[in-house]
Amino acid sequence: KLEIIFVGRSNVGKSTLFSRLFGKEVKKGKRPGTTIKPNTLVYKDLLVTDLPGYGYIHGVRRDFNERVKDFIVHYIESNAERIICGIHVVDGKSFLEIVERWESRGEIPIDIEMYDFLNEFDFQVFLAVNKMDKVEKKDYTLNAISEKLGMIPPWTNWKHRIFPVSAKKGEVDALGGAIRNVLVQKKRHDLL
Ligand code: GDP
Repeated sequence: KLEIIFVGRSNVGKSTLFSRLFGKEVKKGKRPGTTIKPNTLVYKDLLVTDLPGYGYIHGVRRDFNERVKDFIVHYIESNAERIICGIHVVDGKSFLEIVERWESRGEIPIDIEMYDFLNEFDFQVFLAVNKMDKVEKKDYTLNAISEKLGMIPPWTNWKHRIFPVSAKKGEVDALGGAIRNVLVQKKRHDLL
């Protein structure tokens, strides 16, 4: 089987995006902070997995957040061979603020660490910048996010990797197309 994974901080709209793209409601765990379980959808010979959201969750103990991060890293490492695409979801409205807060404390932001980690593997990594409907200075924000993640602005030079979306409004077409393309390429490659 092949697999597509969704990775992101909690509350970035990962589940909303997941259901927009794959047309299925994601079951929400009863309470965040009690279980660590990926949400997997089976689609013929394709698995689509919504990994648990990392980062701070209100009212949840700090060591739980560490366990979530370890789980994600371990999951990706053990399934890397069948993963063909990783979608890293960030919140366009709060990404820069969160990253700058970590940097001002002299820490490597977990969001950047996670993005770099994903890029160590052979699979395609797409950055979905969600909640664009709430972002006012769109190009400015996308350029700044792009720069933070090591892609020299303008962001438009990275349109094969960076996808501004609004899961809530259903504005996800470019990303959907790119994912479909990965599948087509993979099939074509396997036929050769
Ligand atoms: P998850 O924790 O990353 O899975 O996030 P959810 O999918 O549960 O979404 C968290 C919150 O963000 C919910 O209140 C969603 O309605 C909201 N949300 C998700 N996508 C968007 C979006 O594109 N725009 C806006 N404005 N809100 C969104």
